[in-house]
Amino acid sequence: KRRIGVMTSGGDAPGMNGAVRAVVRMALFSNCEAFAIYEGYEGLVQGGNMIQEMHWEDVRGFLAEGGTIIGTARCMSFMQRDGRRTAAKNMILKGIDALVICGGDGSLTGADRFRAEWPSLLEELVERKELTPEQVAPFKHLNIVGLVGSIDNDLSMTDATIGCYSSLARICEAIDSVDTTATSHQRAFVVETMGRHCGWLTLMAGVATGSDFIFIPEKPVEDGWEENMLSIIRKHRALGKRKTIVIVAEGAIDVHLNKITPTQIKDILSKAGLDTRITTLGHVQRGGQPAAYDRMLSTLQGVEAVKAVLEATPETPSPVICMIENKIVRRPLLEAVAQTKEVAKAIESKDFDKAMRLRDAE
Ligand code: ADP
Repeated sequence: KRRIGVMTSGGDAPGMNGAVRAVVRMALFSNCEAFAIYEGYEGLVQGGNMIQEMHWEDVRGFLAEGGTIIGTARCMSFMQRDGRRTAAKNMILKGIDALVICGGDGSLTGADRFRAEWPSLLEELVERKELTPEQVAPFKHLNIVGLVGSIDNDLSMTDATIGCYSSLARICEAIDSVDTTATSHQRAFVVETMGRHCGWLTLMAGVATGSDFIFIPEKPVEDGWEENMLSIIRKHRALGKRKTIVIVAEGAIDVHLNKITPTQIKDILSKAGLDTRITTLGHVQRGGQPAAYDRMLSTLQGVEAVKAVLEATPETPSPVICMIENKIVRRPLLEAVAQTKEVAKAIESKDFDKAMRLRDAE
């Protein structure tokens, strides 16, 4: 019987629990044993009761729960080889040789590194007499499968990450609330949204709420943007609009790579005569129940992840489970992560068109 571990790692996202539930139940359905690794890589390094066998009923109710019930953490020791060696030992002691990891690009990079080092980690464990050759013999290969859990929707090669649609819904609800009071008082609001280096949440929220102006990292504003923004807002006001909503992504920049801040925008709007307030949505965007889409996405992807584990050969590169044009597909994990990193590099070198292309590309 294969023994498959599942963990959530890095920043939490609504829908991660759905992924854990799907992996556990698909593993059991496929006649495997399932294990939850608590607190991300921390649980792997600590071992013991941080790695727990999961039964069908242990994941009951997970679908509708936000955050991640099995916990997540940033784990410094897994960044070190010693930590990864201890993690390998703990996995072997539990008989686990396949891991499904739901996390962001950092977590997935760590996972593939772990897989690449696996044979040499086992050799070291034997040399150090921490395990016997007989103990490691059945564990020649480590299977890794990635699921992208992130509200930012910042991974190339997938149309949606687990959590992004829940977060988008939360942002829209919040802006709707701000909207009513803005209309009453004819005010302007500058709303700051999350997304790190990715403007997807901001762009989609802008479309979904009919906001007046947005700022995103991939399309930095050009010189003279202040006047451009004001002329658009004046035009909307002239058409009878009683409110102004400007959304700014936390990673927003101008073409010179200077950060655009909510305070800066507020000052411009205030000077132009608008009674302006700032609303920072913060972690509200990351919390709460997963939207229907994320429950569906995490379930389908969790099922596919177990299939990918069972079909893996030593030659197949670690896959990440993606959604492309409404289809659940597998893509090479390392390529997806490398392409995601290229976006940041393209922005740093001011090649914004390339950044946009890489974001979209399959
Ligand atoms: P995210 O997965 O959301 O991008 P992080 O970048 O913080 O979040 O990564 C989460 C955890 O994954 C880290 O705390 C660390 O334990 C592990 N990790 C990240 N990058 C690496 C790496 N290059 N090598 C080994 N482990 C890593």
